[in-house]
Amino acid sequence: MADPFMADSTAKGEMMNCIHCGNLMTETLTTFTSVNRGEVYMVENVPCLECPVCEHISFKQDVARTLGRYSSGRLLPVRQARKVWVFDWGDPVVEIPKS
Ligand SMILES: [Zn+2]
Repeated sequence: MADPFMADSTAKGEMMNCIHCGNLMTETLTTFTSVNRGEVYMVENVPCLECPVCEHISFKQDVARTLGRYSSGRLLPVRQARKVWVFDWGDPVVEIPKS
């Protein structure tokens, strides 16, 4: 699994070229997902740099550091977290009865 957090934790600077294709990356927001010791972490609206050509995503150093804290298992969001549905492809499933 590609892990942008691990691959690009050293990214810094305002203007950056994509390490894969060399195009200028643009600032945008992304949803960060990671699995750490079997726990799933999701952070929405994370500022990042995205390559408009190959869609490679990179985080600035301070953002990567904060994402590391978010996925450490030592922080809880104050906002009511939304329900997360985690499947493994091919897992047995059951249908929720219509009420
Ligand atoms: Zn690229």
